[in-house]
Amino acid sequence: MGSELTMLFEGGKRKALTFSYDDGTIYDKKLVSLLKKYDMKATFNLNSGLLGQKEHRMINGIDTDFSQLEPGEVKTVYADQEVSSHTVNHSSIVGLSQNMGAAEVLKNKQRLEELTGRPVRGFAYPYGSYNELAEEILSACGIEYARTADSSNDFDIPQDFLEWHPTCHHDAPELLKLAEKFCNDDSLQPQLFCIWGRSYEFAQKDNWQVLEEFMKYVSDYREKIWFATSIEIVDYVKAFRELRCSSDGRILQNPTEMTLWFEMDREIHCIHGNEKFESL
Ligand SMILES: [Zn+2]
Repeated sequence: MGSELTMLFEGGKRKALTFSYDDGTIYDKKLVSLLKKYDMKATFNLNSGLLGQKEHRMINGIDTDFSQLEPGEVKTVYADQEVSSHTVNHSSIVGLSQNMGAAEVLKNKQRLEELTGRPVRGFAYPYGSYNELAEEILSACGIEYARTADSSNDFDIPQDFLEWHPTCHHDAPELLKLAEKFCNDDSLQPQLFCIWGRSYEFAQKDNWQVLEEFMKYVSDYREKIWFATSIEIVDYVKAFRELRCSSDGRILQNPTEMTLWFEMDREIHCIHGNEKFESL
C-alpha cells in the first residue's frame, strides 16, 4: 500500500499565516511595529509613483490622510518584511494593452528594487481587478504570485499563485471566528491564512484594536503556526511541488535547496535540499 504524504510548512508546522497590505501610506510604520511586537511577517504592496506624496484623499466618503513614506524610508521601514508591487500610480492593469500593462508592472518592480536592493517578485491587483491577460503580463514580467481582493473565507493553498485569494479582509465580521477555526482545527491538510487590507483603514476607523486582538489570539498558538511573508510561502509551496516521488511513494527526492517538511504514516519528517528520503 502506498504512503500518504502531506505537506507541512517550515519547522513541520501545519499552518501558515501571512498579512498582505496595500497602498503604502505612513500608517504602515505602525503596522510594522505591531508585526515586530508579535513577531509576525507581512508583505507590503507599494506604488512607487506615489511615494513621498503628502495628501488627503476622500476614500469611501472619509477624509483620509493618504500620505506616503519617503522613497528613502522604504528600505529601512520594510527591512524585515517583504516589499511587493501594486502599480506605479495604482492604476489597474486590466484594460491596458499588453505593452502598456507590461511597462507599468516592470517600471514599478524596477523602482521598488532600486529602493529596497532586493528582487521584487510579488504583486497585488489594484482594485482587485484581474483577468487572464493580466496574469500573462505578470508572469512575463517575472512576477511569481499575485493577490486578489476576493476573500475566500477558507485556508486552502492556492493552486495558481497568480490568483491568490486571501482568506479575508481585517474588517470582516467573521475575522475572530476564522482565527478560532484556524487555530483549533486539527485537520491533517496544511492550512494558510492570508489577511489583507490597507493600513490607512485602521486610521480611518480608529480600530487598530481589531488587528491587535487578532494578533494576540493567534500568538497563543505560535508553536503551530509559521509566520511568513507571501513570497516565503510561495517559495516553500513551489519547492514542495517539485518533490520527486517513487511510484510506491516510499522514496522521495528533493531537487531544491530548501528543507521540506511532510507527514508520512502519521510521522513528521523533513528532507534537506538535494537529499533523498526513504521510508521503511
Ligand atoms: Zn490598492
